[in-house]
Amino acid sequence: KLDFAAKLARKMGAQITRERVQAVDGVNLDIMLGEVVGLVGESGCGKSTLGRMVCGILPQSSGNIYYKGKNVTEMTPKEHLDYAINVQMIFQDPFASLNPRKRVKSIIGEAPLYHGLTTAKELDGYLDGVMEQCGLDPSYKNRYPHQFSGGQRQRIGIARAMAVDPECLVCDESVAALDVSIQAQILNLFMDLREKHNLTCLFISHDLGVVEHISDRIAVMYLGRLVEIAKVDELFDAPFHPYTKALLAEVPRLDKRAVEFSALEGEIPSPLDPPSGCHFHPRCPYVMDVCREEVPLRREIAPGRYACCHLDS
Ligand code: SF4
Ligand code: MG
Repeated sequence: KLDFAAKLARKMGAQITRERVQAVDGVNLDIMLGEVVGLVGESGCGKSTLGRMVCGILPQSSGNIYYKGKNVTEMTPKEHLDYAINVQMIFQDPFASLNPRKRVKSIIGEAPLYHGLTTAKELDGYLDGVMEQCGLDPSYKNRYPHQFSGGQRQRIGIARAMAVDPECLVCDESVAALDVSIQAQILNLFMDLREKHNLTCLFISHDLGVVEHISDRIAVMYLGRLVEIAKVDELFDAPFHPYTKALLAEVPRLDKRAVEFSALEGEIPSPLDPPSGCHFHPRCPYVMDVCREEVPLRREIAPGRYACCHLDS
């Protein structure tokens, strides 16, 4: 019997035996109200699993998720509904997440109607506001998803989430499927919405370059563990963790921060059989004996800045 995490891992290409895959391990991450945290790492490192847990789509096997100080698993039904409305997920592939047989009007309007944020009578006006805010022409609300371009479909996905006036968005590779020019437009939309609504965001991407401009802080994940958490400028100016440096080497840059680090070699190991000690040790140019034996614990290397690495700060 496979649990959901294992099914996800299988989709990610891992081989499943009877063991459970520990996709996310000892993650400790606070996101402040109004803050945007970029979560980066190679695909298969557990970012999506963490994002789904934050949204309550995927239960965690141990540990806790707190929303506004309340443990999600101990909430009353009313509190849980409040959490479910206020923490919305935006997926990578807008087409796959939009019902092709429904008109945009019902795709976006269903949830606010259900939760009583508007009435059937006032729905059209309500949707006009939501669609305009997301850069969609409200006169298209009777169309079907296939009548829109990829970028427009992602706007529909965003409008669907924004229609319930959430406090927090979890965006999982939300621009990864789009052309670079469209990516920039959608990122700008996120920045607009964030400012207008003081949104809190967890912005998941395999690409540090994508999260750079939108994030206040960045959390770097490797094989289910957060290896570095820092303010975006600190991370780009002086990355600490060898894995962060390797990710940074892959971001094309015009300024001085360009490639002084060597890019990653080798594949990300299977989450079923992660390397001992520091998971990154087989790929790390700075590997020491201790790295193979001991898991590096999280240290505060500067105020509010964390890393898990045996190297001296
Ligand atoms: Fe490299 Fe060791 Fe640091 Fe891991 S703990 S990143 S192997 S130096
Ligand atoms: Mg993913």
